[in-house]
Amino acid sequence: MRFGIDLGGTKIEILALGDRGEERLRHRISTPRDNYDDIVRAIRDLVYDTEAKLGCRGSVGVAIPGAISRKTGLVKNANSTRLIGHPLDKDLSAALHREVRIENDANCFALSEATDGAGAGYDIVFGIIAGTGIGSGICVGGRVLSGAHSIAGEWGHNPLPAPRGRQEIDEAPRCYCGRQGCIESWCSGPSLVSLYEKRTGNKLSVPEIVEAARRGDAACIAEMEAFYDRFARSIATVVGILDPDVIVMGGGLSNIEALYTELPPRVERYAFTSEGPTKIVKNVHGDSSGVRGAAWLWREDESPLGLPK
Ligand SMILES: [Zn+2]
Repeated sequence: MRFGIDLGGTKIEILALGDRGEERLRHRISTPRDNYDDIVRAIRDLVYDTEAKLGCRGSVGVAIPGAISRKTGLVKNANSTRLIGHPLDKDLSAALHREVRIENDANCFALSEATDGAGAGYDIVFGIIAGTGIGSGICVGGRVLSGAHSIAGEWGHNPLPAPRGRQEIDEAPRCYCGRQGCIESWCSGPSLVSLYEKRTGNKLSVPEIVEAARRGDAACIAEMEAFYDRFARSIATVVGILDPDVIVMGGGLSNIEALYTELPPRVERYAFTSEGPTKIVKNVHGDSSGVRGAAWLWREDESPLGLPK
């Protein structure tokens, strides 16, 4: 049995996966608000309660909105500030009397889709979660590539490649990370909304802009063209370094069906290849990718419990 846990800012979800990836049990609770120790205790209780219900033990993997620093062993880059500066993997391992693995939630998304989702059967999978932000992760040969600084794949805070015109050079949006003109600050959902509002004075949601473009609204078509072009330029830099077999899209923006026809030819144009576009596909597991990927952090041939396989 494998347990995957998705530790979010507002909820903690546990999913028990059987040997063939079948879902055995799923449960969700609110994330304790006040302090770190309560979060550790809540996860411990969630695992033990699930084991009691199912009558067996399991391996534990946890997806977090951040990463464990290889240098310090402490959580960093988490938007849930209660976790920052704590050795969450060590504390959970001690609380649960077994080794607990922790990975960034975008890496878990990539792993979930690479294992038995839209990236199954491919060697190099690049997963992008595009929604309120831009997160991403890399899987090679069915394993997460974390990187020396635990930020492999996280190119959302790299600058937009090949910026052009006054808008993209002088008026690049400020990003919360402190820099200006990050890919995320151009290509996230809120960025699309605010860029359209800045251009037209009208405030529309992402689905409204997409739908209006589909119906032929000139301003919305122009905004979406700019969006696809920037996203494609950004993805082309990934292709130039990683050359993934497939790119799997997740997050709210993955519901824009036009992405899958609009992006590949543009990416091919900007990347150094003429052998056909990189495959870009929609995720299979949707919001479940965090918990599923966390469960898959333990592979079949690994036994964290020291039990016979
Ligand atoms: Zn940034």
